[in-house]
This record gives sequence, structure tokens and C-alpha cells, in this order.
Amino acid sequence: MIDTTSQSLEDLTKRLVAFRNARDWRQFHTLKDLIVSLNLEAAELLELVQWKPDTVFESDCQEPPTRDRLAEECADVLLYLLLIAERSGLDLIEAADAKISANDRKYPVEKARGNAKKYTEL
Ligand SMILES: [Mg+2]
Repeated sequence: MIDTTSQSLEDLTKRLVAFRNARDWRQFHTLKDLIVSLNLEAAELLELVQWKPDTVFESDCQEPPTRDRLAEECADVLLYLLLIAERSGLDLIEAADAKISANDRKYPVEKARGNAKKYTEL
């Protein structure tokens, strides 16, 4: 276990790439297969909520074992996302920052506050 208090996405990516390279797995990590894997992991996240009412799931997430499973599947999704970014040369912070700015323009507070409608319906 490492100290995570000051770890950045860049630090995490370096550790993940070292893990991958030590096992010579880059050859299997094509961009297409990384995207497939990300979606399979997202499906495992989805499986956690299947058939559970919202309130039951949110309550279950407060403690093990559901909390541990949630952390595990979120980590799997993040790790594949980092590998996709590394493989394609994307800066995830920059991309996410740009997306928040775009969403800010699409969903102005005065129209979107307390409203779950899509921006095309505001
Ligand atoms: Mg998983």
C-alpha cells in the first residue's frame, strides 16, 4: 500500500504502466480492447445495483462488503480509463475540465437548477 494523500493521475498512470510493462501486457492493450475492457468493468459496476432499490443500495454502500465491491469496480473503471488516456495521449484533466466548461454552457444554472431535463429540452 502506498501513501495516496498527494498522488496525482500522472503518478497513478506511471505506477499502472510499470505494472503493465513488467508483465509485457502492452501488446494486448490495444485502444479498442482497452475501451471494451472499460465497458466490461462499467458493467460490473452496474451489476452491483441490479435489482436493488436506490435507498437499499445507498445504505449498503456505507459498509462492507458492498462498499469494498464499489471501490473495487470504480478502481477497475479508472485504471482502464488511465490506460486509454496513456495509449491515446489524452490529458484526462484537460479533457474533463473542457467537458465541465461545455456542460456549464449547455446547462445554465438559471435553467437547469433542480431540473433533470436534457439540455435540448431546457
Ligand atoms: Mg471488476
